[in-house]
Amino acid sequence: MAGYIKVIAGEMFSGKSTELARLIERSLIAGLSVQVLVPEFSNRGSSRDVERRLRDMRGEWQITPVPEGRGAKLAELVRPNSLVIAVDEAQFFDDDLITFCREWRMQGRQVLVAGLDMDFRERPFGPMGTLMCIANEVMKVHAVCTQCRQQDAFISHRLSSEADQVLVGETNYTALCCDCYQLVLRGAESSRDR
Ligand SMILES: [Zn+2]
Repeated sequence: MAGYIKVIAGEMFSGKSTELARLIERSLIAGLSVQVLVPEFSNRGSSRDVERRLRDMRGEWQITPVPEGRGAKLAELVRPNSLVIAVDEAQFFDDDLITFCREWRMQGRQVLVAGLDMDFRERPFGPMGTLMCIANEVMKVHAVCTQCRQQDAFISHRLSSEADQVLVGETNYTALCCDCYQLVLRGAESSRDR
């Protein structure tokens, strides 16, 4: 079977993990063995959305936490018989993930990658930009803007003033469309000028 890479990208609350779980379910129904890779940090548990969805699914699947999202670990963690490799929260992996995704595709495996496309400053997040370039297929999913509740959101807006790129926790973010994001930025500027 020809290998491929499919990337599901979007802001927070856009349903990336739900879409990833749907694709994994399809693979399991097709009788393929699936390995799900999630970055695991010492200070928190990894996303368990996918696991919740898969719990009742039949078939061969396994969730593998990858310490600190370190790509170098993948060589020892990925099983040779995993035909489908799914990566959740790919933005937290280092660039070694890119090399491995290419390699898995060459080996004829199906690679499914879900992650945040941008950080809260509109910068491509971790390896996601490159992964979207090398993918055979890219799907962008969107939340509804939490402010106007009409337009598609495009960014995970950070509600606190923390400046580090990684600040984990859904309560720290809201999904905003372009217009509402601009209004918030202008508001922040004018309060700084005062
Ligand atoms: Zn809006």
